[in-house]
Amino acid sequence: MKFPSEPFKIKVVEPIRRTTREERDRLLRHAGYNLFQVPAESVYVDLLTDSGTSAMSDNQWAGMMLGDESYAGSKNYFHFEEVVRSICGYQHVIPTHQGRMAENLLFSTVLKPGMCVPNNIHFDTTRANVEHQRAEALDVVIKEAYDPHCEMPFKGNMDLIQLADAIDRIGRDRIPLVMITITNNSGGGQPVSMANIRETRALVNRYGIPLFFDACRFAENCFFIKEREPGYAEKSVVEIAHELFSYGDGCTMSAKKDGLVNIGGFLSLNDDQWTQDITNLLILVEGFPTYGGLAGRDLEAMARGLLEVLDEDYLSFRVGQVRYLGELLDQAGVPILKPIGGHAVYLNAKEFLPHIQQAQFPAQSLAVALYREYGIRGVEIGTVMFGKKDVGTGRTIHPELEMVRLAIPRRVYTNMQITYVAESIIELYRRRQGIHGLALTYEAPVLRHFTARFEELRAIPILQQAAS
Ligand SMILES: *Cc1c(COP(=O)(O)O)cnc(C)c1O
Repeated sequence: MKFPSEPFKIKVVEPIRRTTREERDRLLRHAGYNLFQVPAESVYVDLLTDSGTSAMSDNQWAGMMLGDESYAGSKNYFHFEEVVRSICGYQHVIPTHQGRMAENLLFSTVLKPGMCVPNNIHFDTTRANVEHQRAEALDVVIKEAYDPHCEMPFKGNMDLIQLADAIDRIGRDRIPLVMITITNNSGGGQPVSMANIRETRALVNRYGIPLFFDACRFAENCFFIKEREPGYAEKSVVEIAHELFSYGDGCTMSAKKDGLVNIGGFLSLNDDQWTQDITNLLILVEGFPTYGGLAGRDLEAMARGLLEVLDEDYLSFRVGQVRYLGELLDQAGVPILKPIGGHAVYLNAKEFLPHIQQAQFPAQSLAVALYREYGIRGVEIGTVMFGKKDVGTGRTIHPELEMVRLAIPRRVYTNMQITYVAESIIELYRRRQGIHGLALTYEAPVLRHFTARFEELRAIPILQQAAS
């Protein structure tokens, strides 16, 4: 089946309040046209992020009741450790309260100023944690990753020539590890092929550099390998995961994604010395090694979630639901990033709103219109998030891509709600000439997208485009 129906039935429901356009318009004005400032209760379909927004299963909730809240040696930790080992195969398992803490502990331990970590594309928190150590976060993804029209099955792949050049230029001694992000979140949730991972391993072996995974969406990546890579159709996703992790020396994980929990993460690795140093730091900043900033019940929910995420009925529904939204939009001519990734559909705002110049924030304008007209919340990934000021001229340097990301929470929305999202966007696309740009009225010095404020540029005449 191309788009499998939900492999679950609903036992507990959370009502969603319907709002009127008038109410949303008022909320938007109050929020300074920043969707981070809109209360979630006033959102009908919330596609802001897939992080920590999953619905847990009855099995996970049942596990929560079996939480052993002992300070040391909780039985839930041992279950969690056994599950992580059974999937990843690394010796040590260190729980953390979320992914960025795993990154912080790892990089605080292995990086010194002036060092470098190559990665396909660093996720924001990964980059920030590398740079916090005054080291360089180097992206070495294949160049096709930056082309929104290029359809390749594994657009998250490492560019091995660039990687080899970087190691030769920077020197093995200044690269304590190489990382691969699966799937490549910042590049549109695109997967990395097993062949590319194997070749990366062979390359780093020549220099004796360890390989780590940023494994937040490892199950989705493994499912894409099964679907797309020759030789893997007959293998189970569990077998694929075993092979994939066998090429690495460790991983960091935000279980808020493929752990199917609302909070949690971990670090798993083989190196004894690194583990000792990381554990000492863990005790200082996060907690004792058998709870790592979480409650025993959270560890149990995470252990169970990590097993459930490998269920192939679940994965084909999950990846299929994202693809369903993407294909409905694509068939209607709505410009999206291709191919459709594992956790989100990205609207190409430059092509959706060609009448709004980049300086007037087309992606932000589109996200605002989507919320005002239909109560759907996506997130701007464009000039607001990544625009930089040129120190010399004071002018803004706009990023290449201007997108609205629609991230799909796991097991939360039905296909009917996803159909509603698609139909709303298709209708908005037909009325796109009515959408106006925005002007920035406030920005914070760093991470401005969370608190920026805007006003609407209604007065400025816009190019009339024929509605199609
Ligand atoms: C979410 C994410 C992280 C950070 O995890 P948090 O749980 O949000 O701290 C790191 N890397 C990738 C690829 C992510 O998607």
